[in-house]
Amino acid sequence: MTAASQSPFQSLQHTEARARFDLLSIASYDVRLDLAADDATFRSVTTIRFTSRGGATFVDLKPARVNEIRLNGGALDVDLLERGRLPLDTLEGDNELVVDAVMRFRNDGEGLHRSVDPADGRHYVYGMSFMDAAPSIFACFDQPDLKAPYTFHVTAPVDWLVVGNAPGTSPEPGVWELEQSQPLSTYFVTLVAGPYHLVTDEHDGIPLGLSARASIARDLDADADELFTMTKQCFDEFHRLFGIRYPFGGYHQAFVPEFNAGAMENPGCVTFRDPLIFSSRVTRGVRIQRATTVAHEMAHQWFGNIVTPKWWDDLWLNESFAEYMGNRVTAEVTEYDDAWTHNAYARRQWGLVADQRPSTHPVAGNGAADATSALQDFDGISYAKGSSILKQLNATLGDDVFFAGTIDHFNRHRFGNATMHDLFTSWEEAAARHGSGTAAGSPLDLSSFTSNWLRTAGPDTIVLDRAARVVRRTPPAGHPADRSHTLRVATAELGGKWEVGALTVDSPETAYDVADHRAVVLDPFEDTWALVQPDPATVSALKALLPVTDDTRLRAGIWNNVRSAFHNAAIAPADVLDLLEAGIPVEDSDDAVFYTMPWAVSKVVPLAADPSAALGRIHAVALDKVGDAAAGSTLQLSAFQAAVSSATDAGQLRSWLAGRVVPDGIELDLDLRWRILVQLAVLGETDRAELGAALEAEPTARSRVEHSRAMASLPDAEAKAWAWSRFVGEVDVPNYELSAAGLGMWRPGQEQHTDEYVDRYFADVPRTVDVRSGWVLADAAQDFFPTTSLTEETVAKAHALIDLEGLDRSIRRRVVDLTDELEHRLAIRRAFPVR
Ligand SMILES: [Zn+2]
Repeated sequence: MTAASQSPFQSLQHTEARARFDLLSIASYDVRLDLAADDATFRSVTTIRFTSRGGATFVDLKPARVNEIRLNGGALDVDLLERGRLPLDTLEGDNELVVDAVMRFRNDGEGLHRSVDPADGRHYVYGMSFMDAAPSIFACFDQPDLKAPYTFHVTAPVDWLVVGNAPGTSPEPGVWELEQSQPLSTYFVTLVAGPYHLVTDEHDGIPLGLSARASIARDLDADADELFTMTKQCFDEFHRLFGIRYPFGGYHQAFVPEFNAGAMENPGCVTFRDPLIFSSRVTRGVRIQRATTVAHEMAHQWFGNIVTPKWWDDLWLNESFAEYMGNRVTAEVTEYDDAWTHNAYARRQWGLVADQRPSTHPVAGNGAADATSALQDFDGISYAKGSSILKQLNATLGDDVFFAGTIDHFNRHRFGNATMHDLFTSWEEAAARHGSGTAAGSPLDLSSFTSNWLRTAGPDTIVLDRAARVVRRTPPAGHPADRSHTLRVATAELGGKWEVGALTVDSPETAYDVADHRAVVLDPFEDTWALVQPDPATVSALKALLPVTDDTRLRAGIWNNVRSAFHNAAIAPADVLDLLEAGIPVEDSDDAVFYTMPWAVSKVVPLAADPSAALGRIHAVALDKVGDAAAGSTLQLSAFQAAVSSATDAGQLRSWLAGRVVPDGIELDLDLRWRILVQLAVLGETDRAELGAALEAEPTARSRVEHSRAMASLPDAEAKAWAWSRFVGEVDVPNYELSAAGLGMWRPGQEQHTDEYVDRYFADVPRTVDVRSGWVLADAAQDFFPTTSLTEETVAKAHALIDLEGLDRSIRRRVVDLTDELEHRLAIRRAFPVR
């Protein structure tokens, strides 16, 4: 097939959703699934009771085959099913639709995903309906505003556990009956089924559960206490802030294999990617990431699940709200009070860079015409930028008004749907009730806030012009805005202490007078959303100041400034290396090491005047940090990880792997052993036999992924062909292994083996729609992109692909972003040429 090949299913148009919403009201779903019959398919019998105003509509269904479909007792012609839709001619009043079909288990993390654990051969199933995969599990009217209660009846192998959105019982082995659920949108209906290991607890009348594959039962048990504790703390805090009790019965958190996203907030049964159950030691930052994810999904139980966006164009609000609340509640009530520092390292650049791409879009109302296009805008802008702007709004409104409006929103639309407009109306009314408004006494009007911050794309750039004695605010090109920024500024004399002051930037030029050599760091605590970069005098001063900067949060802000400047060719690679050498020795945050060192290795080193010398400097910084950090600390672990991935001395890697001269406090667990093997593969200092033996010695899911990464990283033609056979689908592998093969194959310095794949990428990627779809399609297009081919010629080829008519939209979006990344890196090279 060609690039113009058509998706097998039609994506729901907003206009179609509105028409169906006006026509139908869904009373209930009754779903019968038989998961025990065979490994490839399952029988799915769905009875939908609904009322209609009478007339034509359609039901969504993506089956392997159909046994029978009856509407109000009469059989329908199943041959009318086309591209996932079956036309229905409904009666005025009550209707009953019964669809008896056979569905395929999927293996791409969507629909009812079934996978085999390589550690023990056992099978696991979970449902991922988001955002339009529910019809591959059961027949439904698949749109967020046609909510209904669900009753599931499941037949499964006798040793399986079955958990869904509502409490369940097993009256006899292999038979599971779930109670009728609260009204749910189709996109968060799930089922988790398999020989999962289960841990239970209870809090405040809410039954709690945790589950994971049997082969990682010990790791789940080790973490259960931490997970339950933070879940309980978050429940108490959400109950306090939201004033409405959690309404979905029990709260089960299932860690499931090969999950594409971080997690999915299904009411009562949240699914998480199972690498979040740690089989090896991890940094504190990785634990904070998990904690904020737990809190984020809990926030969704209210914001998203009790009240759901009416259409996908408001999906951002779900994510922005959950992201803000997830960070805030984690910082305020769990042991991870440094969650905002983690956020600065882990999320800020994700959002800022996305907001500078040609593909940038407003946070709000992306005009999503259909479900597929809404998914394209599910990015750092929806999460990191949206969260930052809600944080600003909270600072403006104050907690009293912010939560009064939010609670009003929950009460008004409980178990229903709402829009962004509804929420902002609730906030304005709450402000009126609390007597807060503008200085002039008129009621609070959020419309200019909304249009400037939520309906206009791109970040303002805020920079200090020392000579002109002003701070300049420049709106993004092509997206005019007039935004008022309230931010803090950290300044310091050489040898002095940091002083923090407040600054309001509400015009193109704000007077700002500062001594010549004083360092000025704008917005180090992320009070606003803007692109801020240090000026040259500040960069020089920072080399002396970083080693005496004892505020962890301020250092995180400085690194965000530096990274933004580097992205925009406003700081030389050599200066970044100097700053790393100045800053890392005093770091006490493992996030600082975890995020800045790999960034420097992958982005800064290739653009340095002497890449191998630059890599050597980073390696030396990492090794020193391993020695200086407390033995056994996670700070030391993060430094050791950086030392491994910057190592070029095979002898040193070999001696670590063999357990000789391992630094005191470092324990060579599975994760570190594979990190070393991957680095040996990059250097061409291992072979397929050794990698195969390592996999065979410990054949876990994690090992398979790292084996895939290492195999693709080897510097020879066979390795690249091996990776490519996976990309084009000649060899079918699960999503994490596919991703690792793509990320492994493009390595700086291996151009002689990868050059031929530059052209092949642009020729082959359009046809990958024939072998995969959804998340995995877009992720593979990203992971196999020729990121190391830093030439104008590659950029030109990428643009030709972007212009190709009929190219899948999700592939185009990823190629647009990655091409922009190449262009930025070429701009850095032009600005700081290698002599
Ligand atoms: Zn979310």
